[in-house]
Amino acid sequence: MKVLVAVKRVVDANVKVRVKTDGSGVELSNLKMAINPFCEIAVEAAVQTKEAGHASEVVAVSVGSDACQEQLRTALAMGADRAILVQAPDGLEPLAVAKALKAIARQEGADLVVLGKQSIDGDNNQTGQMLAALLGNAQGTFASKLEFAGEGVKVTREVDGGLETLHLTLPAVITADLRLNEPRYASLPNIMKAKKKPLDLVAIDTLGVDVSPRLKVLKVTAPAERDAGKRVGSVSELVQMLKTEAGVI
Ligand code: AMP
Repeated sequence: MKVLVAVKRVVDANVKVRVKTDGSGVELSNLKMAINPFCEIAVEAAVQTKEAGHASEVVAVSVGSDACQEQLRTALAMGADRAILVQAPDGLEPLAVAKALKAIARQEGADLVVLGKQSIDGDNNQTGQMLAALLGNAQGTFASKLEFAGEGVKVTREVDGGLETLHLTLPAVITADLRLNEPRYASLPNIMKAKKKPLDLVAIDTLGVDVSPRLKVLKVTAPAERDAGKRVGSVSELVQMLKTEAGVI
């Protein structure tokens, strides 16, 4: 079984982002970038699948600018065998990314594509679902457990109020939720080894997919500032303030 894992470059989760003054988006210059946290979980799941003997090869794919090679190298250091960068402008819409991933999945003959459930920059939660539809494959989204058996994979999904278990026939698409695993840290020897692993560059216009935008961002605004808190001296003062100032009791 060949596993493709989609890796997105995003602003590091610990960075506090600022909205651009013209409200057209978020300031990205000179910020620390990282693998999208849910993609890290997807890479770990793909690598564990190979380590358990269910997969023969793990291929990491990113769609974006040349800078994404940094995140692909991290995926290689975590244990992916090789990587593909689909060279494209950063910030493509999920549909365009899904089309590019579909083309690569077909070229590679992937049996399983693992993605993060969501990218923490766009909060789209769309690419995996669109990819499954474009490929005509089964999908197991928000996966918190994977078990390989026979010709398919059993996926436990986090749903409102509980867990749902599905059996997917391969080929299939899975999106990783937070509790699927705890991604490993890439060790220094593996980071060094990853530098020598193959990383192929594919120009997006060679894939024959229409990536023209369908959406226009009208405005981005920062969340409203929270009022400063007040320190109270006693419980009775707190009760008094909840009555008179907050008006909640
Ligand atoms: P989204 O639909 O944007 O929330 O992203 C869900 C998942 O799709 C991410 O966690 C990635 O696994 C994958 N994905 C989205 N955009 C890209 C991209 N530009 N390159 C590679 N994978 C991506």
